[in-house]
Amino acid sequence: MHRHLQTRFVPEAPGRSGPNLEMDSGRYDLRGKRVTVVGLARTGMAAVRFLLARGAQVTATDLRTAVELQEQVAALRPLGVQLDLGRHTDEVMLSADLILLSPGVPLSLAPLEKALAKGVPALSEVELASRFLRGRIVGITGSNGKTTVTTLIHEMLAGAGLFSQIGGNIGTPLIGLVETSREDGFTVAELSSFQLETTRHFHAHIAVVTNISPDHLDRHGSMGAYVAAKQRILNNQDSRDWAVLNADSAAAADLAALTAARVLLFSRLREPDEGVFVRDGEIHSRIGGQVRRQMSVSDIRLRGAHNLENVLAGLAAGLAAGAGSDCLAEAVRSFKGVEHRLEWVARIDGVDYYNDSKATNVDAVIKALGAFSSGIVLIAGGKDKGGDFAPLRPLVEDRVRRLIVIGAASEKIAEAMAGAVRIERAADMPEAVGRAREAAEPGDIVLLAPACASFDMYENFEHRGRVFKSAVRAIEEASRSGRN
Ligand code: ADP
Repeated sequence: MHRHLQTRFVPEAPGRSGPNLEMDSGRYDLRGKRVTVVGLARTGMAAVRFLLARGAQVTATDLRTAVELQEQVAALRPLGVQLDLGRHTDEVMLSADLILLSPGVPLSLAPLEKALAKGVPALSEVELASRFLRGRIVGITGSNGKTTVTTLIHEMLAGAGLFSQIGGNIGTPLIGLVETSREDGFTVAELSSFQLETTRHFHAHIAVVTNISPDHLDRHGSMGAYVAAKQRILNNQDSRDWAVLNADSAAAADLAALTAARVLLFSRLREPDEGVFVRDGEIHSRIGGQVRRQMSVSDIRLRGAHNLENVLAGLAAGLAAGAGSDCLAEAVRSFKGVEHRLEWVARIDGVDYYNDSKATNVDAVIKALGAFSSGIVLIAGGKDKGGDFAPLRPLVEDRVRRLIVIGAASEKIAEAMAGAVRIERAADMPEAVGRAREAAEPGDIVLLAPACASFDMYENFEHRGRVFKSAVRAIEEASRSGRN
């Protein structure tokens, strides 16, 4: 679809930012500037509010119509925002002093391409926010584990008495965190590769890359383009900064050569020269050559080797931020994980039900299967993201008692797993959970880990996870009241 975006993206044409958008110590003076905001979802709305507060004249455009965007229209009209809905015209793009892009807006939009070619500067919301945020940014990207690691780092810093706020790709958009940011504090930001591919001056004091595995290939087109987007998190770093990289993920570790920052590697499997690692069940750090015991692996409440990696990543970032070891260990001990990420739901008739609706790619499912030794009833399927399901086969053969497929990718998954396991098809989630219950024996695990996006049947992965959980609760209720 939109291949190699970063090579075609012209965030600001040379010379144009001078006369039109004066930089005030790295920040734009937005007073009186005509800014067109493209996209009116949560991020676009937060951007409009930010721009108005800075004195800009804002026009907002979205392909959805005024009827579809009733709520937004009602909120924006009284604020004097010009609206151009149901289309994107050349006029709203070409007349702007600055175009502000919501995440996911394709740069191939014809009017946008025209404006970029004419030298109208365009920025992503993350880029604009990063120029105004006070204090230091901790940026987290990677194929999997971003939300878990971002949440953990935020809890670590707050627990250590540091000022920390969390947002970006989760929760509050970064632009909505500008007003509350503090010079002496941290903004802990989850960043998707889509958000990173349009950054230019974005500067993370601590950049974390959790891991890199094939994902989002449908949109990025190639692994090279995907890695290129991720590596942008290291741009503009200098020797006072830190890069926290996964020594056990080759593509992530290779990024060490691309940063000017101090590198901390984290590893489950070996002891890097500088970073955090496991030795005899104890987690250690080695920074500036000094080895220190930090905590025990058994302090971690979350299941799975991947969550050990997440804790190692968080710990490295916490140490880089200057948090004390005791506070870091305490934050890990009390960290219960994030909803929809290998979330324990219930135990019914000796069977544990786990909701890993966020396992939207094959690598995350491999990690989820790896967290249990056998007796798994796996519910998978949804909208295919263009990946290859074959890498699941050995673990499925080894650990999965039954595979229940749902959604648009059902046949593709069933074909890839044919002969490895008994496969059943279900029309919807309640049916899948019912079939899983019948297949499971005491001591087994019923695991929703779809390996697919959710958009064929649900609004998003949260919705899918909630539907799964309510189907499980219904069974739990029925089991309690002895009806089944
Ligand atoms: P992201 O924000 O990158 O999508 P999440 O923390 O939301 O990451 O986790 C996404 C999915 O990946 C979940 O299914 C989770 O169980 C799994 N996961 C979490 N951490 C890792 C990791 N380090 N490696 C592989 N999979 C992971």
